[in-house]
Amino acid sequence: LFLTFEGGDGSGKSTQSALLTGWLTAAGRTVVHAREPGGTELGLELREIVLHRRGYIAPRAEALIYAADRAHNIATVVRPALERGDIVIQDRYLDSSVAYQGSGRVLDPGEVRELSLWATERLLPDLTILLDLDVATGRGRLDDSRTRYDRLEAEGAEFHHRVRESYLALAAAEPERFLVLDATASIEELAERIRDRVSVLLA
Ligand code: C5P
Repeated sequence: LFLTFEGGDGSGKSTQSALLTGWLTAAGRTVVHAREPGGTELGLELREIVLHRRGYIAPRAEALIYAADRAHNIATVVRPALERGDIVIQDRYLDSSVAYQGSGRVLDPGEVRELSLWATERLLPDLTILLDLDVATGRGRLDDSRTRYDRLEAEGAEFHHRVRESYLALAAAEPERFLVLDATASIEELAERIRDRVSVLLA
């Protein structure tokens, strides 16, 4: 079972994926908690380049770096885990690239999706939980490093609005794969809705 969390910066993905991982582990399941970008050693180097390198990165180069991170993570972490029968819970996957590189950077979202599908030999999640949040609220929640804040400032609110709209469009196009939740709900309420949906998949 391959479950992914998606949503804008500050939407609560890492909180909810950690809670879900804890709940499934307590229920006796073997869970691999993965993440992108930076879920492998190579991925951490790529994350450093794409998020912390000073200076301009051409949008197509950025899309290829994310795709390289994803290809390596899927081949070396996710597929082996799925083949063992483990549950994989991952923060961000191909929908992030369609939203951020496709709609955010204004590349062709369909081409960016194809690139990801090529990179992963067409692995799609069984369920994608989209934590939907307006841009200003998400930004207000970030207590992260100055670097990230600077980068978000540089991208601007319009960029992040396009990301949000793109996520919602993806969810509308594949309603059976997506669970869309209003991320302003309480942590416990969100966790409960997620557990309910995952329980159905496990039954
Ligand atoms: O999910 P996480 O907080 O680790 O993401 C790090 C940053 O990378 C986020 O600020 C997000 O905006 C950015 N990102 C991106 N394109 C992706 C994935 C993440 O721009 N495909």
